[in-house]
Amino acid sequence: MYPNAIAHYHAPTELADVLALLAAGGEAKVIAGGQTLMPLLKSRLYSPATLVDLNRVRGLGAIEEHPDRLVLGALVRHQQAATHPVVRARCRVLASAAIKVADRQVRNRGTLAGSLAYGDYTSDIAPALLALGAAVRIARHGAAERVVDLDAFLVGPFECDLAREELVTAIEIPLEPGATGGAYVKIGRVAHDRVTVSVGAHVALDGAGRLRFARLGFGGLSPRAQRARAAEELLAGRTPSAPLFAEAGAVAANGVKTRSDELASAEYRTQLIRVTVPQSLERAVRRARGDLA
Ligand SMILES: Cc1cc2nc3c(=O)[nH]c(=O)nc-3n(C[C@H](O)[C@H](O)[C@H](O)COP(=O)(O)OP(=O)(O)OC[C@H]3O[C@@H](n4cnc5c(N)ncnc54)[C@H](O)[C@@H]3O)c2cc1C
Repeated sequence: MYPNAIAHYHAPTELADVLALLAAGGEAKVIAGGQTLMPLLKSRLYSPATLVDLNRVRGLGAIEEHPDRLVLGALVRHQQAATHPVVRARCRVLASAAIKVADRQVRNRGTLAGSLAYGDYTSDIAPALLALGAAVRIARHGAAERVVDLDAFLVGPFECDLAREELVTAIEIPLEPGATGGAYVKIGRVAHDRVTVSVGAHVALDGAGRLRFARLGFGGLSPRAQRARAAEELLAGRTPSAPLFAEAGAVAANGVKTRSDELASAEYRTQLIRVTVPQSLERAVRRARGDLA
């Protein structure tokens, strides 16, 4: 089906013009990669009067490396994140998650920020960014920018801490000093399917090889992507080992909240967490030690 007619289509080149259009009222909707929005428009589940296209806005497609953080603009695509050398070297969990999004066509267009703003609990991107301790930059016409921790931003399902006239302008990822590593394990019905359960792990080791910290983000869990705080507390300061990772899996499985849906039962998802947490931690630690590419 074709979408209903869009009364007003704008493709500004300046961020300020995007914000002014969103603030003007009415049914203005932003389009980035269009990989989620276009199917909704075509099925006529959604028919905004105004579409504001981000694709020509200057400066939103960059990945900037600062000494303490990486800033990824709102138009950074999945494929760009998957192949960027700094993302691969220092935020491996994100690169590994991004390459598992759908197929190359979707990855070439779809954006990280669009994935977060849609609030889809089966997103591959949200759990990876939760593991990295990411935050979201949000702009609004005539107001100061606000920066929201991703864990607070995701309200879900399909709901986030974002007003209709606000725009996600960038994602900020803290860069940790020393030995760090990450891994992403995705379980779907078939390869590159929507997430049934996924685990993103990001770890840092101290000079003695102990876990300075480990962060775990889960995807596929309704109502929203989640951190595993109790398992993270268990891991901090400990020497990595298979029994410790198995214990973390059990603690994480007990702590998550999820529901059954058409993809899997809540019980099956919980069991998958028990199994995938040790796998992701083992790979992340090997990467931090330089034992795994
Ligand atoms: C066939 C197919 C398979 C897919 N498989 C996967 C998969 O395996 N894993 C996965 O994670 N994803 C998957 N996706 C979704 C894909 O990752 C999308 O790219 C992503 O969900 C949305 O990004 P987008 O840039 O395309 O957003 P759009 O479709 O342009 O927008 C999505 C929503 O976010 C809003 N939005 C977009 N950008 C911003 C912004 N900067 N600020 C505020 N609001 C914004 C829009 O208004 C809209 O409501 C798949 C999509 C398709 C079509």
